Amino acid sequence: MTSVPNVTLNNGVTMPQLGFGVFQVPDEETTAAVASALEAGYRSIDTAAIYGNERGVGKALAASGIPREELFVTTKLWNEDQGHDRASAAFEASLDKLGLDHVDLYLVHWPAPDRDLYVQTYKALEKILADGRARAIGVSNFQVSHLRRLMEHTGITPAVNQVELHPGLQQKALRAFHAEHGIATEAWSPLAQGAVLDDQAIVGVAEAHGVTPAQVVLRWHLQSGNIVIPKSVTPARIRQNLDVFGFRLTDADMTAVAGLDRDLRTGPDPDTFN
Ligand code: NDP
Repeated sequence: MTSVPNVTLNNGVTMPQLGFGVFQVPDEETTAAVASALEAGYRSIDTAAIYGNERGVGKALAASGIPREELFVTTKLWNEDQGHDRASAAFEASLDKLGLDHVDLYLVHWPAPDRDLYVQTYKALEKILADGRARAIGVSNFQVSHLRRLMEHTGITPAVNQVELHPGLQQKALRAFHAEHGIATEAWSPLAQGAVLDDQAIVGVAEAHGVTPAQVVLRWHLQSGNIVIPKSVTPARIRQNLDVFGFRLTDADMTAVAGLDRDLRTGPDPDTFN
């Protein structure tokens, strides 16, 4: 079975560099998709309260019989549950749906700057971490300004910032900030939901290696040091997206993909999404 390398987070916890995302997968389909991913060899699953499929994820985890310590489960706190007390309650609800007594990573899903609650929300996550109910805590969709403010007013540097990141949106300044402060970069929509898979540069590299464009993009992420969580409900693609450890992109391939950066945002703008 494929062995996925681990990334060591800033608190020493290790996280698989490649996991499985379930955004936009209906709860009733999620159990089959996650079961298929676990069978293929994925051990890290990324969900969120707002996806409405934590129960489906939990059912697949329980049915797999895989020991809990071999799994890495991430979920996220939704914007409407920001605020110290609401965050604590939302976390309990997520754990209950997942059927777990702890998660491996708990994230504040968006900074939602107009709500102006992310600092106190994150303080609730610090308590969850201290209580051992999350092995690591972090954020998602935070820009440098949000990270700076958070770090000024709280005690624990986020282990992870999960952001939109793919060849069309390479987030160079944000990644440099993460590197400087020991925050792991996790890429959501790592395939840009398919929008970069027809790019000629990617197709050309794929042909040269005898792999698919999606595999080239995932390889580019891995060699760039990003954590990736591609989503698919198609079993052959689920397996294909994990089968990215048998080849390596050359420096010239990496440069060709780097040339595709073009501010291509497929999701909301974190500065205005609330
Ligand atoms: P991805 O970039 O992972 O792309 C998923 C799409 O690509 C699906 O349409 C899928 O189709 C298709 N696809 C997957 N594999 C292949 C392949 N090998 N070849 C061709 N097409 C393929 O998009 P997501 O937006 O789902 O992002 C991944 C994960 O990131 C999410 O599931 C979620 O866990 C997380 N996320 C987090 C966000 C946040 O705000 N923190 C926001 C958005 C996502 P099909 O399923 O039909 O096979």
